[in-house]
Amino acid sequence: MSLKQGSIYEYLQAENACDIILCDDLKNTQKIIDIALFLNKDVLEFPDFRAIKNDDLRSYKNELYDLFNALYDYYKADKKPLIVSTFYTFINPLPIQKLLTQKTISFGDSLDIQNFKKHLLYWGYTFVDIVQEKGEVSFRGDIIDIFSIHSDNPIRLSLFDVEVESIRKFDLDSQKSIKEELESFDYRPTLFGFNAEEYEKILHLCQTNNNQTLFKDINSFGFWNLEHLALDFLTNKKVMLSHDFKDDIQAHLNINKIKNNPFETYKSIPEADHFRDIKIVDLHGYLEIHKNLDITIIVKNEAQLKQYNVDPKGKNIVYKDVYLNLISMNTLIISLNKSQRKSKIKKQNMILDELKAGDYVVHENYGVALFNKIEQITVLGSKRDFVILQYQGDDKLLLPVENLDLIDRFVANSGILPVQDKLGKGSFAKLKSKVKTKLLEIAAGIIEIAASRNMIDASKIYIDSDDLKYFQSKAGFTYTKDQETSIKEMLEEMAKSKVMDRLLSGDVGFGKTEVAMNGLYSAYKAGFQSAIIVPTTLLSSQHFISLQDRFKFFGVNIAKLDRFISAKARKEIIANLKNGTIDMVVGTHSLFGVAFKQLGLVVVDEEHKFGVKQKEKLKELHQNVHLLSMSATPIPRSLNMALTSIKTLSTLTTPPSDRLGVRTFVKNYDNNLLKEVILRELRRGGQIFYVFNSIANIQMKKIALEKILPDLKVVVLHSKISPVESEKDIMKFHQGKYDILLATSIIESGIHIPNANTMIIDNADRFGVADLHQLRGRVGRGNKEGYAYFLVNDSDLLTPDATKRLMALESNSYLGAGSALAYHDLEIRGGGNLLGEAQSGHIKNIGYSLYLKMLEEAIASLSNTQIDIKQKQSVDIKLTVSAYLSENIITEDRLRLELYRRLSKADTAKMIYEIQEEVIDRFGQLDEITKQFFDIMVIKLLCIQNKIKTVGNYNENITFTYADETKQNIKARSKDDDDVIDTTLKFLRV
Ligand code: ADP
Repeated sequence: MSLKQGSIYEYLQAENACDIILCDDLKNTQKIIDIALFLNKDVLEFPDFRAIKNDDLRSYKNELYDLFNALYDYYKADKKPLIVSTFYTFINPLPIQKLLTQKTISFGDSLDIQNFKKHLLYWGYTFVDIVQEKGEVSFRGDIIDIFSIHSDNPIRLSLFDVEVESIRKFDLDSQKSIKEELESFDYRPTLFGFNAEEYEKILHLCQTNNNQTLFKDINSFGFWNLEHLALDFLTNKKVMLSHDFKDDIQAHLNINKIKNNPFETYKSIPEADHFRDIKIVDLHGYLEIHKNLDITIIVKNEAQLKQYNVDPKGKNIVYKDVYLNLISMNTLIISLNKSQRKSKIKKQNMILDELKAGDYVVHENYGVALFNKIEQITVLGSKRDFVILQYQGDDKLLLPVENLDLIDRFVANSGILPVQDKLGKGSFAKLKSKVKTKLLEIAAGIIEIAASRNMIDASKIYIDSDDLKYFQSKAGFTYTKDQETSIKEMLEEMAKSKVMDRLLSGDVGFGKTEVAMNGLYSAYKAGFQSAIIVPTTLLSSQHFISLQDRFKFFGVNIAKLDRFISAKARKEIIANLKNGTIDMVVGTHSLFGVAFKQLGLVVVDEEHKFGVKQKEKLKELHQNVHLLSMSATPIPRSLNMALTSIKTLSTLTTPPSDRLGVRTFVKNYDNNLLKEVILRELRRGGQIFYVFNSIANIQMKKIALEKILPDLKVVVLHSKISPVESEKDIMKFHQGKYDILLATSIIESGIHIPNANTMIIDNADRFGVADLHQLRGRVGRGNKEGYAYFLVNDSDLLTPDATKRLMALESNSYLGAGSALAYHDLEIRGGGNLLGEAQSGHIKNIGYSLYLKMLEEAIASLSNTQIDIKQKQSVDIKLTVSAYLSENIITEDRLRLELYRRLSKADTAKMIYEIQEEVIDRFGQLDEITKQFFDIMVIKLLCIQNKIKTVGNYNENITFTYADETKQNIKARSKDDDDVIDTTLKFLRV
């Protein structure tokens, strides 16, 4: 039975209703909260915290913070608010009041740094060099950055000796503080307000936990080891269930093998006697019919009231952002707001192109190298920083840090190991020019096709806005902003008399098909047929089912054509497409060559998976009809810009708001764990993907799995099995005939099986972040929570870098910061794949980043776009001036490197000065050497502007060499560093 707002409303109207309402999911939590707010109740939402005893809590970090904040507010409140939450949150004992506390630091307080550090350690803070998330703290000499879990902003303290001299908020993206000084600020424990003794004791309990995780600390297991410091929160409170969902509770408890049911005795809120939920389709009609009732209209603001053209006369108008539609004998309550959970998608603030020692990089002129380290080198008596690039045969290139923009991280497809180039043989230059020629060819091809398509006439497909609204109202959910924009862009283009050629990109499950269906419906309404063409029969079945479902109210005649259709049926379908009785058809390449009566729109899904010949046939099919291609591979924004001049693009970047995301765990391989993980998924009726990346041993693995769980139905999939066979197997898996799909990493691309929600990856440390991210993206697509287990054979043997990589993904489930990094790599790859060049050796040789850069340049140079692709010019700075970011100020190599990188990429002096200000803000006053480095960066930019390629000095004589080889000499007052810099700057600024 589903939740009725009417019964909740009636129940909450009564005095002393109850202390807590438990419901089954977050959508219902929101509905109840809306009613409570409407009734002016004091209400507190608890998060949906679904961890089961001994789950690694790193993966539940954000919910845990929300939970502790909610508990804090509750404990502190004099008059206890009504709690609304899902039942999951209360299955486990929760920390007692003593552990949830808060402290204040004020201006002028004295602070002993050593003690403060210890205190924050006991309170669960993570010590980092850049604060990017809640619960982190960073100590840099006299400056302390701290981000409390209850705060929207991190805080920067600076000390004078031991005294707090300044307290300011700072911005996570820019890391710069906000000018305004605060009197004081509060901070809470990230986990628990432990003292030293409690901390040590609980830490010990965590370490003796025999769970196979990488870290056995309080962050991972503290919550499960609180013992007497946690209690059953529900004791002595009046608890009600929002509606009858006891079976769901029981199922959840069974799945997780929880024996006693803590909710057994609770009653459900009774059905309403007077109030009934209503759905408003025709607002004004409804108001007219019920005009004799006592009418309440809920709106956010007056403007909204006007927008809906509702006359407030004789009605109660309530200004609130809540959603509630009810009717009784005497009363009508209507909300003009939209029901929508506020999606909590975190903005990423990760450094996306960070370089690390040990990474492979590509130098624009010398090719692939290993990035070794930063090193300080004395040249002609002055000290400068260089990065050392290691080429074949241990040859080294010293790259001055001011030119760090010449290198990029090497990004390739999984399994491709970069090969270091040979220095100085000119072979890389040859390769680059070959790639360039090829790219110009490709770009010319794209532009030509685009230009010729631009000339082709097509039928205008136009849909009435009421028709469209009606269609959209039957979706059963609210569109994301991206979906709305994409639909608008697509329909506007279809309404024109030139053919549309649009690409819609977005991760699987982000709602591309729903967007496309708006186009399909418009075509249908305008009297045109449409076709959806997909590369596999699995996709054609999936789309056919969803189309039938989505169009069931609209009388659309839909057919499917692929090799599972019998010869007889096929004949009939082909005839009906020709005579126009079929409105829409989904199919594979079986559709090629088929004649239509009046085709208006073709939608192609995953076009890059069609072969070259098939692509040609595809083109024939949609010569003068509108075309929408959908692709699950993201496309980098830079390329996006270059392409807009020739192709229209829409992008979905956000998932539908009710996605639960994927919980990620990193664990040591262990048969018992494996068994438990598999059973947990099977118990909830789901299926499992198991990634095992060795074709040679995969059969052995199958036998091993069947040994662990003898009844397990396992199907194997890898690239050596024929496509026809594979497709059949996937279909069978999709139909639920197997429990586990044991496969190599080929499942990373686009498989969408909503019932498979656990992903196990063996030897996860051998995969790159982007691959792991894409793999786990196969699960958690429906309204079920996805689980990803990254198994490693022996965590003790992992390199620190591999550990860090895995942890980044673990602590940030699907939508967090670790993912942003992974996604960034995917985008770069996506750009290359877009051209169907994925298999080409070029990318293997030069990596995606350089390939992409060159492609952008090629397109821009051919298409006369306005986009200014910066023609990079490097400047050789040979001034005998010591200049670098001093280690005394910025102690971490990593942070210096990041700043060097940003400085090298800056293209105005203003940007340099901004970074300089930021450095002072983050790290304190600069020394001479560091200041001089900023000057050198400005000199570099001014040289570029003045077309100077070298600047150098001999004592006080400074020489500038222009690009055309002319030279100019000037004289400084002395050969001192400051005089040389001043004179150079003065000369360049004139
Ligand atoms: P894609 O084609 O990008 O893989 P679909 O359009 O098939 O995604 O959407 C995946 C699932 O999510 C479908 O079940 C669809 O009905 C649902 N869906 C799409 N858009 C939304 C939305 N805005 N809110 C909730 N569910 C949505």
